[in-house]
Formats: sequence, C-alpha cells, structure tokens
Amino acid sequence: MTPLTLAIDVGGTKTDIAWVSDVGDITAIARIDTAAAGPNLLEEIVNAVPRSKIDDIGVIGVGCGGPMSPGGEQVSPLNIPAWRNFPLRAALIQHFGCDVNVENDAKALALAEGRFGAARGISNYVAMVVSTGVGGGVVVDGRLLDGSTGNAGHIGHIVVNPGGAPCGCGVRGCLEAEASGTAITRMTGRPASEAEISVRRRTGEMVGRAIASTASLLDVESFFIAGSVALGYGADFFGSARATARQFAGLSFVSDIRVEPSGLGDRGPILGAACVAWRSLKP
Ligand SMILES: [Zn+2]
Repeated sequence: MTPLTLAIDVGGTKTDIAWVSDVGDITAIARIDTAAAGPNLLEEIVNAVPRSKIDDIGVIGVGCGGPMSPGGEQVSPLNIPAWRNFPLRAALIQHFGCDVNVENDAKALALAEGRFGAARGISNYVAMVVSTGVGGGVVVDGRLLDGSTGNAGHIGHIVVNPGGAPCGCGVRGCLEAEASGTAITRMTGRPASEAEISVRRRTGEMVGRAIASTASLLDVESFFIAGSVALGYGADFFGSARATARQFAGLSFVSDIRVEPSGLGDRGPILGAACVAWRSLKP
C-alpha cells in the first residue's frame, strides 16, 4: 500500500502543497506565493501542513527548479534567489521526520507523464516544459535518466540558432533563449501570450529542431510538451514543432516523431512531485 504522500511543487511564482493518492487524486493543502515568502519559504511550507497529520505522513516528494546537487541535497533554483545551496531535503527531514525525495521539476513531470499522463505504456519518451523557461526529462528503456550530476534532460540548452539570443547559461542560441516565454517577451516587447502567429510558429520550429537532435541521439520518437507557452500556442506551435522535427530527423528509426501536448494539464507539477516521493519505495 502506498503510504500517505505529501507532494510539494516549488515553483518560481507559486509553491503548491497537496496530498496525492496512488491513483493520482489530489487534495490541495496550500498555495504559497514563492516570491512574497522570500527567505521564509521553508517555514511557510512547514506551517501549511496540518500538525495533526504530520505523524501520518509516510513519504514526501518535492519537484523544484534547478540547478541542484545530486539527490536534491542542495538546491539553487534560478527563480528563487533566497535559496542558494539550500539544504532542502535535510530541512524537510528535520521538520517532518520521514523519507523525503527531491528532484528537478521537469524530471518529476516526466515521471508523472509516464504514470498518469500521455506517456502511459511508453518506455521511451521525453517530457518537456515550454513556459517561463524550457526544461525536460528523458525516459529511456523505462527509466528516467539522471546523468552524472542528476541534471540529464536540459533540452533547453541545446543550441538551435547558432549566434542567436544570449542565454542565461552564457551561450547564444539555446532553445531556452529562443523559445521560452521570457525570450519571446524580450524579442517582441509583449507578453508571450499575445504573440502573433509568426512568433507562435517560430517557437514551434525552434522546439522542433531540439526535438530532432534529441530523437536521433536517444532513439526516442515520443515527445510530450507542457507549459503555458506550448499549450497556449496550441496547434500553431505543435504543427510547426512536429513538421520541423520530422524535417531535421533523417534516420529511419526516427521517421515517425510524435510531438503531442502533455496529458496532465495543470496537474502535472504536483503529480510529478508525488511520483518523486514514490521513486524510493520498494515495489
Ligand atoms: Zn543555455
């Protein structure tokens, strides 16, 4: 039986806390304004959980922005300046006294896509977020890839436009610098949601380029994309991304690339956090 699971999705704008059942039922506990909480974020998370329930919690899962050290022992989310090398896992263990797992939020989403979303039954896929930033989680042979430092899946830093827009990582032309909501606002001078059709298609094209390279590298044909930019741009985005991916992936084993919306909608991040919690459970 799955123990009582506390899921925490730490985002740059908001932090959600909820109970999640093993069939994906979500019972919200609290939503915290991350920026307003500032250095008190951990305290606000702890105080939001009802005291009467703390002894019943079996496991806690956290999805959080990167970068982070292996196992999420120390997190330094780009969007949360108050947390630099912050010992999130140890702090939660200290407060709640139970097993705690912390993972990059895009990797968490990939786990949820496989368990509850559009990737159910699929052993090889990439889950992506195209939103304020661009992130990804890669599942190959049924296993979420971690990499040497736990940071596998940073598809937002594949160069799709050499010499293009400067990226936060120091390089020019990364997917994140060309297709994220932040990048679109910088290029158009307007909120990403108000972009005209040519921008929506170009965004899809940039994502399609990264998908083509990733597909060939990993022998993966299924890509599921969440995030406000991708889902908000809808068919203009997905049609362009799919066509570009197929154009740039020439090998026979990636001739049928699928680029589809996430099957999780806005439930993805919190379900992802729950899947992170369950990663350590023995089957
Ligand atoms: Zn970059």
